[in-house]
Order: sequence, then structure tokens, then C-alpha cells
Amino acid sequence: MTDFRLISDDQWRERLSAEEYRVLRRAGTEAPHTGRYTDTETEGVYSCRACGTELFRSTEKFSAHCGWPAFFSPLAGDRVIEREDRSLPGRPRVEVLCATCDSHLGHVFTGEGYDTPTDQRYCINSICLTLEEKPIS
Ligand SMILES: [Zn+2]
Repeated sequence: MTDFRLISDDQWRERLSAEEYRVLRRAGTEAPHTGRYTDTETEGVYSCRACGTELFRSTEKFSAHCGWPAFFSPLAGDRVIEREDRSLPGRPRVEVLCATCDSHLGHVFTGEGYDTPTDQRYCINSICLTLEEKPIS
């Protein structure tokens, strides 16, 4: 099994497209309302574009109208890492990373008032995900 944490920066550049690399490995953000999964309601599982680990499900996806795919929970808590991000001055955020390969996925926001079971919004870049259509039991 591949240890994705041992993959070098040069190898990531080879494995990913330029835009995937910029977002996943350089904590970039895709432009709002441009990602392919922003409004997707297809039933299925979203995996990490970099390593293939299943991260989110359509059953936890909701319409946040924020311009990016939004989930109120990951598939399982141990699939992602959440850590403080102070890259924007005066606006601390919580960054969400893939726990398997340490790739950047997006940010999670809490207490915004969305009518979901958790009142959390995992705001994830479409380009970090691959959707596999399949029934969710
Ligand atoms: Zn990953």
C-alpha cells in the first residue's frame, strides 16, 4: 500500500494536474461557482482526488449556495484532519485536510445557522474530490 505521506513534492506535481496541485498541495482555492460538484445532487461517495480515500457522501451534502460543495459532516471523523489556519489576517479559519495524504481540501465553518444536523459547513473544493456514483445504504 502506498504511503502517501512519503510522496515528494516533485512526484505530486507529476501525479496531479497543475490546478489540482495548486489547490491540493499548495492550499489553493478554486474560483467560486466553477467547480464541477458545486450543485451536484448525484447519490454517491466523494473520494480524495490525490489518494482515493473516501471522504464525503452525498447524504451529508447540502445546498449552502456558497459557490463550493458543502457537507455538514465527513464520511467519518478520522478521514480528515482539521487544523487552525491563520493565513487570512484577522480571520482565523479551520483548514480541512485529507488524513491519508495531508492534501488540502478546504475549510470547515461552524455555527452559521444552516438547517443541518451539525450546523457545520465543510466547504470543499470540487477539484479535490472525485465522485463515484453508487447507492448509499
Ligand atoms: Zn488524500
